[in-house]
Amino acid sequence: MTHWKAILQDSITTYSALQKHLDCNNTALKEVIANFPMRINPYFLNLIKTPHDPLWKQSVPDPAELDDAICIDDPLDEENLSPVPNLVHRYPDRALFLVTNQCAMYCRFCTRKRKVGTSRMCISADTINAGLDYLTKTPEIKDVLISGGDPLLLDDEVIDTLLLNLRKIPSIEVIRIGTRVPCSLPMRITGRLVAILRKYHPLYINTHFNHPAEITPEATRACALLADSGIPLGCQTVLLRGINDDPAVILALMRGLLRIRVKPYYLFQADLTRGTNHFRTHTDTGVAILRHLIGKISGMAIPTLALDAPGGKGKIPLSPDFILERGKNLIFNSYCGKVCTYPEAGEAF
Ligand SMILES: *Cc1c(COP(=O)(O)O)cnc(C)c1O
Ligand code: SF4
Repeated sequence: MTHWKAILQDSITTYSALQKHLDCNNTALKEVIANFPMRINPYFLNLIKTPHDPLWKQSVPDPAELDDAICIDDPLDEENLSPVPNLVHRYPDRALFLVTNQCAMYCRFCTRKRKVGTSRMCISADTINAGLDYLTKTPEIKDVLISGGDPLLLDDEVIDTLLLNLRKIPSIEVIRIGTRVPCSLPMRITGRLVAILRKYHPLYINTHFNHPAEITPEATRACALLADSGIPLGCQTVLLRGINDDPAVILALMRGLLRIRVKPYYLFQADLTRGTNHFRTHTDTGVAILRHLIGKISGMAIPTLALDAPGGKGKIPLSPDFILERGKNLIFNSYCGKVCTYPEAGEAF
C-alpha cells in the first residue's frame, strides 16, 4: 500500500492541476483558491464520478465562495473564547484544542475556513505548550477535543507525544480526536497509528462522513482497525445543500455508518461561515429529515440534529415535535402519524 504521505503529496492544490483532472474551466476559481486553499487528494478525487456530484461539491472550489455577503469569518466566536491561541474554552467541563492547520482535503464548507490550511492558523510547539499549560491550570476541564485541521495528519511520534502529555494531566478524563481521515484519506489509519492511540484510553474518535458514497472498502477497513483497538467511533455530519439534504441520502448514510461501527453523533446545521452560504439549508429541512428517520431506522442510527448557536453560545438540539397536547394526558403523534395518549403520573388512567 502506498504510504499516506505519498498519496497526500499527489494532491491537487493549484488551478492548473485541477484543469488536468476535472472539467472545470473557470478562471474565477484562481481567486477562490487564493482566498481559501484547495487540496483534493487522489483517493478522494477517485470517488468523484460526475461533475458536481456530492463529492465534487465538497472538495472542488466554487465561485460562490467569494459571493457571500451574509456570513462571517468566525461565527462561533472561537477567537474570543480562546484563553490561549488555538484552545477554545466554551463549555465548563470541556475544551477544543486545535493542534494543526492541515487536513487531508480542504472541505469547501469548513467551519474554520477562515484559517484552516493557511498561515492565518499559526500552530507551533509554543501554542501547543500554552494549551497544555492552560489545561493543567484548569482542572474543571475533564474532556479535551483535539481538532484542527486534522490531528491525524500529524506524524505518529507527534501524536504519541501530544497524547502522552495530555495523559500527564490528572484532571483530564476523556480525550476525543476529531478527524476526517477515515473518510478523506483512510490509508492514514495504520496498525502503527492505532498501536499508539490505544495506549491512551479512554480515547474516542469523532469522524466526519457526509455521503453514503464515502463509505468505501478503504473507509470500512480504517474504521474496523480503530474499532478493533477499542476506540468508540462517532460521526459528525454536516447538512449541506445539494449534497445530502435529502431524507433518503441521510438514511442510507446513517445505516452505512452503523455497518462500519460508527455511531452517528451529530447532524449539524451548517454554520454561518463566510464562503459557505451556498451550502446552507433551512432548519425545517433538517427537522423534516430527522422526522423521516425516527422509527424507520434504529435509534442507534439517529444523530442529534444540532445548531451551533452564533456567537459561541453552544450547540442546541433541533428536534421534530411529536407532541400535540400537554395536560393530564400527553397527546402525541406516533412515528407513523397515529395519535397516541399517555396518562401522566398521578392522573387517573
Ligand atoms: C462542539 C464543541 C465541544 C464539544 O461539544 P459536545 O457536545 O460535548 O460534543 C466543546 N467545545 C467547543 C468549543 C465546541 O465547539
Ligand atoms: S477536514 Fe474538517 S477541519 Fe479540515 S477542512 Fe474538512 S471540515 Fe474543515
